[in-house]
Amino acid sequence: TLQVAMAFALMSSLYGEFMQALGASVRIFALLDRKPDVDNMNGDILGQADGCVEFKNVTFTYPSRPETKVLKEVTFAVKPGEMVALVGPSGGGKSTIVNLIERFYDPDSGMIQLGGVDLKSLDPQWFRRKIAMVSQEPTLFACSIKENIAYGKMATSEEIESAAKQANAHNFITTFEEGYDTLVGERGVRLSGGQKQRIAIARALIMDPVLLLLDEATSALDAESEHLVQEAIDRAMKGRTVIVIAHRLSTVRNASKVIVIDKGEIAEMGNHEELIAKGGVYKRLVLRQLTAGSLYAGNDNLDVNT
Ligand code: ATP
Repeated sequence: TLQVAMAFALMSSLYGEFMQALGASVRIFALLDRKPDVDNMNGDILGQADGCVEFKNVTFTYPSRPETKVLKEVTFAVKPGEMVALVGPSGGGKSTIVNLIERFYDPDSGMIQLGGVDLKSLDPQWFRRKIAMVSQEPTLFACSIKENIAYGKMATSEEIESAAKQANAHNFITTFEEGYDTLVGERGVRLSGGQKQRIAIARALIMDPVLLLLDEATSALDAESEHLVQEAIDRAMKGRTVIVIAHRLSTVRNASKVIVIDKGEIAEMGNHEELIAKGGVYKRLVLRQLTAGSLYAGNDNLDVNT
């Protein structure tokens, strides 16, 4: 039992890094999927979760780097059905905001609310099913495509197939001899980045989340895959609250709100037109993209033609 206790202590102290490294993939393992000191197994379940998200003076430091405040007094609100784009220089804190919404970590101070309720008081299992993340490099489980899409949910074959069709994944899945039963992962077929993303989108559609988190691809997929992924993402976004770490100008243009994060703080907030008119950081980022092919100070690869 001592060994078990030690393993558990180690596990919980490494929890954040561990979860971040594995991303969404690990969430199927319900047992590991908890932060024992903060979880509230009898938490609230929102009757009518509407996907409204609020950050209230959120300050955060990664446990492994106690000397650096990564987010400082971050405050913003996302209304139900709104599409909000996070932009800003590399290392500014965009992914950290998403990590906190996914509850890989909790804020040091301040509060994050979903539907007006503190994330900490929401039932974690319920909560995990209400938020879907589509990352740049989705990790798939070493099981069948069908199981990857169903994500532990009791979904019928029809539901799985319909989600895959909407996610533009059905066509490539059916080219495999074993179709939806094809194994993926180390021992299974190798999928391209775009195919993995489309499976992750199908999974998100099956979950029918109130909040969709997206990390837009920085590295270019081949043109056809890019188009198919974008079309699938557009379908998945419909009617949902979306928070996207945006790398494409077309995305920020469509966002109802753009939040510019720089050095852990909100530098600017508004829609594309407002921020261009303001002539500040955002305008400089956009101009840089148009002239140098990158929206960011880092070497993120932006597609200026979209
Ligand atoms: P990018 O556009 O490059 O993805 P970002 O705006 O998403 O950057 P974050 O990844 O949120 O920025 O990083 C914010 C800061 O936190 C950076 O200084 C980064 O080095 C640090 N950081 C990120 N993840 C961790 C972690 N797991 N442990 C410690 N520090 C981290």
